[in-house]
Amino acid sequence: MSQIIYIPFDQLSTERGAMKVASKENDLVVLVESQRMITGRQWHRQRLQFLISSARHFAEELASDGWQVRYLKSETTKAGLKEVLQQFPHFQLVCATPNSFRLREMLSTMNATFVENDFFLTSEDMFSLWADKQKSFTMENFYRAQRKRLNILVDNGEPVGGAWNFDADNRLAPPKQHDWGSTLTFATDDVDRQVTQELPETSWGNLDGKIWGTTRAEALQQMEHFFTHHFANFGPYEDAMPNASWSGHHSLLSPYLNNGLLSPHEVVRAALNRFADGDVPISSCEGFIRQIIGWREYINGMYWYLGYDYRDNNHLNATRKLLPLFHDAQATHMNCVKSVVSDVHEYGWTHHIPRLMVLSNLALLTGVSPQDFLDWMREVFIDAADWVMVPNVIGMATHADNGVLMTKPYASGGAYISKMGQFCKECQYDPKKRTGNDACPFTTLYWDFLDRNKEAFAKNHRMFQQMAGLRRLSDLPEVRTRAQHVLSGLSSGEV
Ligand SMILES: Cc1cc2nc3c(=O)[nH]c(=O)nc-3n(C[C@H](O)[C@H](O)[C@H](O)COP(=O)(O)OP(=O)(O)OC[C@H]3O[C@@H](n4cnc5c(N)ncnc54)[C@H](O)[C@@H]3O)c2cc1C
Repeated sequence: MSQIIYIPFDQLSTERGAMKVASKENDLVVLVESQRMITGRQWHRQRLQFLISSARHFAEELASDGWQVRYLKSETTKAGLKEVLQQFPHFQLVCATPNSFRLREMLSTMNATFVENDFFLTSEDMFSLWADKQKSFTMENFYRAQRKRLNILVDNGEPVGGAWNFDADNRLAPPKQHDWGSTLTFATDDVDRQVTQELPETSWGNLDGKIWGTTRAEALQQMEHFFTHHFANFGPYEDAMPNASWSGHHSLLSPYLNNGLLSPHEVVRAALNRFADGDVPISSCEGFIRQIIGWREYINGMYWYLGYDYRDNNHLNATRKLLPLFHDAQATHMNCVKSVVSDVHEYGWTHHIPRLMVLSNLALLTGVSPQDFLDWMREVFIDAADWVMVPNVIGMATHADNGVLMTKPYASGGAYISKMGQFCKECQYDPKKRTGNDACPFTTLYWDFLDRNKEAFAKNHRMFQQMAGLRRLSDLPEVRTRAQHVLSGLSSGEV
């Protein structure tokens, strides 16, 4: 029987997913550009451009390689697929198991046949085998099990270099003088330009130049650039937030890993090959491998393991509306927030520390609704997808799940940002102060957050030290007063 091979925009691979079972002679490859996906929200321009242009390039490349391809623009994905099925009623709809609950459910209602999803290194069943045995879902334990299972950086059952984790060597602050190297830009072609012309006016963010590749060849170029120019320094400066570079020594590979242009298998292989050359420190290699075989797989595993409703958690009853500064960097005087939101506006990307310790920390401390914050993160990040944003935001970023993922919230005052970033010198707020007009909002709100949530944290032994610190504060009434001022100022865009 002939097949309709449906390729979602996050499975753009000729070697993985449904293309593995496709026949050039008999089958029709279908991609659907859903208008609802484009116009439904205030998406970042870079994001729409990247996703749509990558899909159109993929379809063009398949067609020029002799495949029969239909690239449809339709109101919804379902409507597009129905249209093709009406034209080819005897064809079987085939797709790799989708990466989101919604698409999986929708395709099930259309009687699609699912083939194995091999865009990850760990199947759902394999992850459940691990998760079912855990008392708490500690990523580090999962990661070590992955190292052994996949036999990566393991020698006779022992970790290469003598330790499983070299983070103690990493976490360096950005130096005053440092060569942060270059970032790639790509040449635009007719497909890119056509997509740009069609972007809806409601979209947000900058789109000058082409910093995100839209073909497999460009994704490979980005990977090569990382391993040649940044990999060796990746570990030590992984958490640093320098002024002089928007991407530091990060790989910028997440968009390609998430839309299928690259696979985690080949990225890991390339990392190990580069490490074998001998001039990349183990702290960088291990740190990077941990992100791919540890964090990325863990987050995907937890997405499926915790189920669809996990996204609705709001354990700390956070109900504040999204702050205006998230869409307008000028709506705050906080230098770190202004700078990070400007980067998001510019590139649709910042690395994990600004995401976690600046943007999410602010949402957490101010009590912004986790669901509103999740929506915003999904709209503005180039690499966002349901499977990756839901656990990262609901679990890691906002502690809305009562510690299912992370046993304590990633809440912090201005000191951490001052140490790992270069924002505070130019800022009107002082990270050391918690009261007074020039007190850093992060520092004030950190204590106020602990105070507001002291009952929720009372039994959390990992919060014991912080809560003891709170009890020792002699100026808590003044902190509370300043916090009210800061909270209303942030909501009105004046702090
Ligand atoms: C609140 C929050 C939201 C995030 N949202 C996303 C998201 O929507 N999409 C996304 O791909 N990553 C997300 N991350 C993880 C991480 O910030 C990005 O993967 C990373 O910044 C991408 O840049 P890079 O490719 O240069 O990563 P590198 O620092 O070079 O790391 C290499 C790779 O590791 C993987 N990785 C590392 N950490 C994670 C993680 N926590 N979850 C999943 N993959 C991880 C990514 O594939 C990344 O490409 C989020 C992190 C936080 C704290």
